Amino acid sequence: MMTSEQYVESLRKMNLQVYFMGEKIDNPVDHPMIRPSMNSVAMTYKLAEMEEYKDLMTATSNLTGKRINRFCHLHQSTEDLKNKVKMQRLLGQKTASCFQRCVGMDAFNAIYSTTFEMDRELGTEYHKRFVKYMEFVQENDLVVDGAMTDPKGDRSLSPSQQPDPDLYVHITEVRPDGIVVRGAKAHQTGAVNSHEHLIMPTIAMKAEDSDYAVSFAVPSDAEGVIMIYGRQSCDTRKMEPGAEIDLGNSEFGGHEALVVFDDVFVPNERVFMCKEYKYAGMMVERFAGYHRQSYGGCKVGVGDVLIGAAALAADYNGVPKATHIKDKLIEMIHLNETLYSCGIACSSEGTQMDAGNYMIDLLLANVCKQNITRLPYEIARLAEDIAGGLMVTMPSEQDLRHPELGPIVKKYLVGATGKDTENRMRILRLIENITLGTAAVGYRTESMHGAGSPQAQRIMIARQGDLEAKKELARAIAKVDVSKDK
Ligand code: SF4
Ligand code: FE
Repeated sequence: MMTSEQYVESLRKMNLQVYFMGEKIDNPVDHPMIRPSMNSVAMTYKLAEMEEYKDLMTATSNLTGKRINRFCHLHQSTEDLKNKVKMQRLLGQKTASCFQRCVGMDAFNAIYSTTFEMDRELGTEYHKRFVKYMEFVQENDLVVDGAMTDPKGDRSLSPSQQPDPDLYVHITEVRPDGIVVRGAKAHQTGAVNSHEHLIMPTIAMKAEDSDYAVSFAVPSDAEGVIMIYGRQSCDTRKMEPGAEIDLGNSEFGGHEALVVFDDVFVPNERVFMCKEYKYAGMMVERFAGYHRQSYGGCKVGVGDVLIGAAALAADYNGVPKATHIKDKLIEMIHLNETLYSCGIACSSEGTQMDAGNYMIDLLLANVCKQNITRLPYEIARLAEDIAGGLMVTMPSEQDLRHPELGPIVKKYLVGATGKDTENRMRILRLIENITLGTAAVGYRTESMHGAGSPQAQRIMIARQGDLEAKKELARAIAKVDVSKDK
C-alpha cells in the first residue's frame, strides 16, 4: 500500500492535461484550488496507515490474499459492505468534504460481477481481463475515477439519435489490438486526483446504441484525455493570498471535472464491454446501487461535522441552553442517523453475487439515496438557522487581520462572554463552506444529483417495491374475492 506522501508524489509523475478557468494547469498537485481536494484523497491513504483505523480502512484481497486499501476491495461479505459505509462516514468526519475515491470502489464491484455474468453467458473474456486489472489496481494502490455520467445532450433522444454522436462515450473504431473511443464524461468526481479512469455506460442500451455500450480503463494521462476542472461556489477564495479562515475548510475539499476522450486508443486487455448492449443496464444499475449506498456513509460523516459546527455556533452565540436550539440539534442528529441507518440497512441485507462479491440490497440503497436528496437540505437549513445571519455577512479575514479594522471587527463580532471572536468566525465560515461554499457541492447539490437524480431512484423503487405482492397482502386480509371483480 502507498503512504499518503507516496500518493501525492505518484500524481506528480503523471502528465495530466488539466484546464481551469481558460488556462492549462501544468502542476495540478500544488495548485491552490486543486490541492485541498487532493488532500482529501490523501486521507484515504493516511488513515489506512494508522493502527486505530486499520480494520476499517484495509481488507484482505480475495484475488491475492494480500492486505489492501478497502477502497480497492471487492466486498466479500455483508460485514465488508457495512465496513465500507463506516469507512466513508469516518472519512467524511475527517475531511468534511468529498474524498472522491468511492466512485472507483463502486465501479470495481459493479464491473466485477457484470463481466462475470457476461463471460458465463457469452463466452467472452472480460472478467478475466478485469481480474488482471484489479490485481494491478490493488498491487499499486491506485485511485481510480469510476466514470458513468455522459453529457446526454437532448434527454428525449437515445445516444445514437443525438445530433452530435459524441454526447455519449462511444466506440469509433475496433482494431485487432483494441478500440478507439470518443466522447466525454461530465462531473467526474476526483478526476484530476486519479491515476486511472474506469468508464461505464450511463444508461441501458438498445441494439441501435451498441457502439455506446462500452466499458474500459485508461490511465488519466493517456493520449487524448483532457480534463476541464469544474467551478465551485466561492472557489476563488482559495486563490486569495494567505486565505485561511475565509475558506471555512482550508485543508480539504472535493472536485469534479469534465473529462474528454478525444479518439483515445484502449488496448484489448483494458476493454470490459464492447457493444454487448444487453449488459449496459446491468452495469449501470449495480454501480448506481453501490454509490447510493455510499452516500449513507459519506454524507453522514460530513453531517456529523456540520452538526458539531452548529452546536459550537450556539455556544459562541451564547445560546446553548435555549430549548429550541437543543431541539434543533436533536432533530439534526435524528435526520443524520436516519441516513446512516439506510446505509447500514442496505449493507446488512446484501447478498452474494454469482461472481462471489457482495451486492447491497437495491431497494434499500435506492431508499437511502432518495432520503439523501432531502434530509441534508433540512440539516443544512437547521444549521443556518442556529448559526445566524452573520455566517453570510461577516467581514473578511483581511479585515480581522487589519491593524485598524481588526480591533473593530473583534469588538463588534464578539459573542458569548469569554469566547474568542476569531474562533467564532472560524466556525461560522465552516458552516458557510458546507452549506453554501465549496463543500456545498458535495453536501447539498451532490446529495440531490450525485449517484443519480431523485427520479432515477423512484424508478428503481417502483421496480423493486413489488406493489403486486403488497396488493395480495391487502386482498388476503380483507378477504377480497377477485372473481367478483371485472
Ligand atoms: Fe465518495 Fe461521497 Fe464523494 Fe461519492 S460523494 S465519491 S460517495 S465521498
Ligand atoms: Fe458522488
